[in-house]
Formats: sequence, structure tokens, C-alpha cells
Amino acid sequence: MANPSTPPVIGLLGAGQLGRMLVEAASPLDVQIALLDAANAPAKQINSNPLNVTGSFKDPAKIRELAASSSVLTVEIEHIDTKVLEEIDAEGVQITGSDGAATTKKVTIHPSWRTLRLVQDKFDQKEYLSSQGIPVADQIAIKTGSDAIMESSLKEASDKFGFPWMLKSRKDSYDGRGNLKISSPTDFEIAIKDFGSLSCYAERWVPFECELAVMVVRTEDAEGNTKRVIPFPVVETIHEDNVCSKVFYPPRGVAPEVAQRAREVGSSVVAKLWGRGVFAVEMFVTSKGDVLVNEIAPRPHNSGHLSIEAVPYMSQFKAQLTAILDEPFPEELEASVDSSIMINILGGLRPDSHFELVQKAKSMFSRKTSVYPHLYGKESKPGRKIGHITLTGSCSIAELELYAQPLIALADSMRK
Ligand code: ATP
Ligand code: MG
Ligand code: MG
Repeated sequence: MANPSTPPVIGLLGAGQLGRMLVEAASPLDVQIALLDAANAPAKQINSNPLNVTGSFKDPAKIRELAASSSVLTVEIEHIDTKVLEEIDAEGVQITGSDGAATTKKVTIHPSWRTLRLVQDKFDQKEYLSSQGIPVADQIAIKTGSDAIMESSLKEASDKFGFPWMLKSRKDSYDGRGNLKISSPTDFEIAIKDFGSLSCYAERWVPFECELAVMVVRTEDAEGNTKRVIPFPVVETIHEDNVCSKVFYPPRGVAPEVAQRAREVGSSVVAKLWGRGVFAVEMFVTSKGDVLVNEIAPRPHNSGHLSIEAVPYMSQFKAQLTAILDEPFPEELEASVDSSIMINILGGLRPDSHFELVQKAKSMFSRKTSVYPHLYGKESKPGRKIGHITLTGSCSIAELELYAQPLIALADSMRK
């Protein structure tokens, strides 16, 4: 547990919307966040900490500079340099004392660089999960190197999986940028053009009934032994064009035992990782009710945004702070509301396409439901996540969905 006489400083790699919501959660707890990112990044706009560092979270020198003023380092994005984190973890960082002498300071890193490194490569991530007995979709590595080598590897994957199947980049993908559905051999040409210079893999197509996600908190003692693994309630996620557009709690039309299984699968995934914090586990549910893990995010996640209002005593952001600082954590995480919906605000064709949606959200008041707009301070670009709206209700998810219909219709119309 942190010593109250020395307020903790959490160094955060990245200062986008996740960092911004982490800062919002940290403020009432008097936890300082030092941010490493570009000057006017979303989280920096609301956190004028002199310890903030301007630069890239991919730059090892800047990461060391941030570490020098932090007690704990954490991330809002997994696409970072894990080598420097491994070095800082092993050796600490050099700091100059008030007397001018150089000393070494220990800095802990949560989640562990081992988790970040594993998760960075989606193929390795799923091989590991599979080796631990976690159900995942079949996958095979795709060979690149020349057009002919890649084409024969694409054919091999097609023979193994049949059409369609999913071609995925092993690294740096997000919001479906890095995925290509292969529906027939005519897609090989675009696959070779777009993925030929990347390291990639083939994944069996999962004809899922729905997608679920669960945020799971992992706490650890100072020696790295698991203390507890605590899941949030399971949510249903809707992806359109590979991007999460909406989240529903509780999941609609999912049997309670399937939701419970998903919660258990999510917890067993996070039990196999290293370090403290919150982790997202994305899953597919098949028509038979089987749960397959799609991927992990080792940080707060879009599918957990509704926890700010739906689990107000311990949102995913407060949970991240509480877990990495090893503060007291609740026995269980349950919603304080009957139902909740999150609608992403994705940038439209015009910079102001989202105004009508936001105005509508600001105008909705009722006794049984609440509407909470969140804007991230980002410039709008087509398809970019620039905010979200959460609704909570003391009513069924079906009633809340009906109430949310005008917002859903406006959000959907912006995508056209
Ligand atoms: P994220 O922003 O969640 O990190 P990502 O770029 O890593 O996205 P994935 O999670 O791999 O992408 O895929 C995005 C979406 O594409 C999934 O949520 C799902 O809707 C669809 N998808 C991915 N893999 C498959 C599959 N094997 N079969 C069917 N649909 C899939
Ligand atoms: Mg991903
Ligand atoms: Mg995903």
C-alpha cells in the first residue's frame, strides 16, 4: 500500500481518451498522473502536471524521463517499447539528487512488460492462451517474403479453414485496422498488397451469435504472486466495420449461464497474465453457447467505459488506479443500475457531424434513466473515436434500448 506521506505519482505512457478518464478518476483520490504524449493530447488538456513529458510513448529516452519522476509506470496502449520497460524493471532509472549525485531509483511497472510483450503479438497471445487451455479460434502463421510464398501460404490457410477466414496483422492493429476478411481467392491480391510487408496470421472465421467482453482486475503482492482476480459484469459489444459501436449491459438475449461462463473464462485468462491492473477480454459466443476468446487488452478498454456510471464505486479507471497502487479493493464488482448502454461517438464526414447527437444526449432527462455524454477533446475525423454516451436505467435493457433509440439512430446515421 502507498505511504500517505508521499503521494504516489503514476507515470502513464499515452494521454488519449483512456488517459483522460484515468485522470478524471485520479483527481478526487489525490493521485498524481504524469503523462507522456504529444503536447495537447486529450488527457493533457485536463492535467497540467509539471511532471508531464512531451514526446512519443515509443521513445525509450522519454519513457526513462517519465519513469524518473514516477513511482509506478502504466500504459493506456499496448503498442509500446517493452525492451526499455524490461530494463527499467530490472535496473531502475538514474536520477540526480538535490546534491547533484546520481542515484538509481526503483520503478514498478504494471501490468508487467511480460504481459505487454505477449499481448502485442496477437498470434503469440492466442498460442499462449491455447496452451493454457483457454478456448480460442484456430490460427496458423502466414508466410510472407515474396508474393509467391505468401500466395501459397494463403492457399494453405484457405484449404485448412475454408472461406471465409480472417487475415490479421500480428502487431499494431486496433479498431479492425489490420484485419482483412478473405472470402475467395480473388481477395489474395489485396491481401498480398496490404499485408505482404507485415507479419500476419490466418484465423478461422467464427460465425458468432454475439460478442461479449469482460473487464477483469488482477491484484498482486509485492513478490508478484496473484492476490485476487475480480471480474466486472459481462457486457455485450457490437462491432460495425470492425469498430466497437455500442455496448449493452446486461447482454441482450444471452442465457445467464453463458454470461457466467464468459465471466469465468475472462477471469481464467487474466489469472494467466502478469502484473496488476485492469484487463479487457473480448470473446465470441457461438450458436451452441461456446465461448471463444478473441483478444486481450492489458488496460482500460472501450467495453468498460459504462462502468464509470454503472459501477460508480469502482469504475474501470478507479480500478486501474486502486489495483496498481495496491489499495483496498472490493470483494466483488457488480452494477449499481439495472441496465446500461454505451454508444461510441465516431467522427462523421464533417467536423461537426456529431453535434446533433451530442445535443440530443444533453437534452434527455427522465426519472428512470440518465444520459451521460463524454467528449474527449479530439479533432473529429471520419470513423475516429471522439467521445461516447453512456445511458443507465432502473429498467430492463429492452426498455433502456427503446429510450436510447433516438441516440442510436443519430449515431448510426453519422456513419453513412
Ligand atoms: P480492437 O480495436 O478491439 O483492438 P482489433 O483491430 O484488434 O480491434 P479484432 O478484435 O481482432 O480487431 O477484430 C475486430 C472485430 O472483427 C471483432 O470484434 C469481430 O467483430 C470481428 N472478427 C475478428 N476476428 C474474427 C473472426 N475470426 N471471425 C469473425 N469475426 C471476427
Ligand atoms: Mg485488438
Ligand atoms: Mg478487438
